[in-house]
Amino acid sequence: MSYLKINHDKITAENAEDLMKICPFSAITYENGRLEIGAGCKMCKMCVNKGPKGAIEFIKEEAPSVDKSLWKGITVFVEHDEGRIHPVTLELIGKARELAKVTGQPVYALFIGFNIEDQAKKLLFYGVDEVFLYDSPALKHFLILPYANVFTHFINQTKPSSILVGATHLGRSLAPRVAARFRTGLTADCTVLDMKENTDLVQIRPAFGGNIMAQIVTPRNRPQFCTVRYKIFSAPPKQETPRGRITRMEIEEKQLKDTMQVLDIIRKPKDIDISDADIIVAVGRGIKSQADLALAEELASLLGAQIACTRPLIEAGWFDAKHQIGLSGRTVKAKLIITLGISGSVQFAAGMRNSDCIVSVNKDKNAPIFDVAHYGFVGDLYEIVPAFIQQMKEEN
Ligand SMILES: Cc1cc2nc3c(=O)[nH]c(=O)nc-3n(C[C@H](O)[C@H](O)[C@H](O)COP(=O)(O)OP(=O)(O)OC[C@H]3O[C@@H](n4cnc5c(N)ncnc54)[C@H](O)[C@@H]3O)c2cc1C
Ligand code: SF4
Repeated sequence: MSYLKINHDKITAENAEDLMKICPFSAITYENGRLEIGAGCKMCKMCVNKGPKGAIEFIKEEAPSVDKSLWKGITVFVEHDEGRIHPVTLELIGKARELAKVTGQPVYALFIGFNIEDQAKKLLFYGVDEVFLYDSPALKHFLILPYANVFTHFINQTKPSSILVGATHLGRSLAPRVAARFRTGLTADCTVLDMKENTDLVQIRPAFGGNIMAQIVTPRNRPQFCTVRYKIFSAPPKQETPRGRITRMEIEEKQLKDTMQVLDIIRKPKDIDISDADIIVAVGRGIKSQADLALAEELASLLGAQIACTRPLIEAGWFDAKHQIGLSGRTVKAKLIITLGISGSVQFAAGMRNSDCIVSVNKDKNAPIFDVAHYGFVGDLYEIVPAFIQQMKEEN
């Protein structure tokens, strides 16, 4: 970490004026006799090198270092709803197992809740070496403070090198809070994970609007945190026999106290969730009017598919945001997805490219969607889709 230090005793109204002129990013202000450097500073150091001598100093701090040999294992946080394990947990365990092969380290699961031991045993069928169980009535419901305290206790006790958390609502609120407590890095919404032999986790995710794939490492801190969305990785097959063990953890009662209390849980009616759909018909701007969606809906109903779309159709108000596939929408991993009039932008493809079978219709033979499609139809969807529908009707 580096920063600029203003030596206020060397600042006068005159040299403050000079400093403001020197800064090419207008980051320096002088008000009521006080010089300040704002968020616009790009650390170009012109004020240090060209400004009045000693008025502003560039201070370089030693980067923190960590003894990586003290941090071992890849931990997966177990997300669950009253014991029902969220499938993203198994997907992360599968990935953790792959990553652990590089370093020969164990895979741990952190399971926090109440009356969850039977569920914890199920994880031993998926390749977890050790499940750490925090089982207490006070942990029955997710409350951020006690859960963060338990997570912190677990890290202090076991010193895991990497921690994988589902990018669910719960994971997205818990993981950053715990990462901040350890002043360590967290990469959200990773789409690819890799492991270096020195135990640095390579966290890869789209950045700058999906135009680059950023590779992020946390070389000077441990643990290393990342979140991964549901359906990015595949769950490993269930093994015939369990292996590994369950370790019950104890924590001081006062760590489980919270000023918040869950009085009741009122479940919302289950919404459509395209993330869970096996068959999807996805539509894009190639559909010319909202009325023409009827064509895609007829195809979807014949296939028993859910309808999804690209972002422009959400922006046009044709669909609710829950139907959007992509970087800023949902990730899907359908058995069959048919895309109609979709160009295949990186932002869209990031949300569906892991589907088992991708069939695409686009009139432009150079559309990037054909780079991810398994089967492509080059032509007008207004001719091809009615032909699909007719053929399906004839066969049924
Ligand atoms: C930060 C950021 C995040 C984003 N996140 C997302 C996201 O999550 N999801 C998302 O979808 N987009 C997202 N976008 C927008 C994305 O960049 C694209 O603009 C969008 O995906 C394009 O949607 P489209 O394919 O429907 O439209 P277009 O790119 O306009 O493509 C329409 C396609 O239809 C074809 N076509 C036209 N008429 C016919 C016809 N009659 N028959 C057959 N084919 C036809 C055309 O050849 C064309 O390829 C994001 C953008 C940014 C900057
Ligand atoms: S380092 Fe550069 S950008 Fe920052 S205040 Fe100085 S001149 Fe401005």
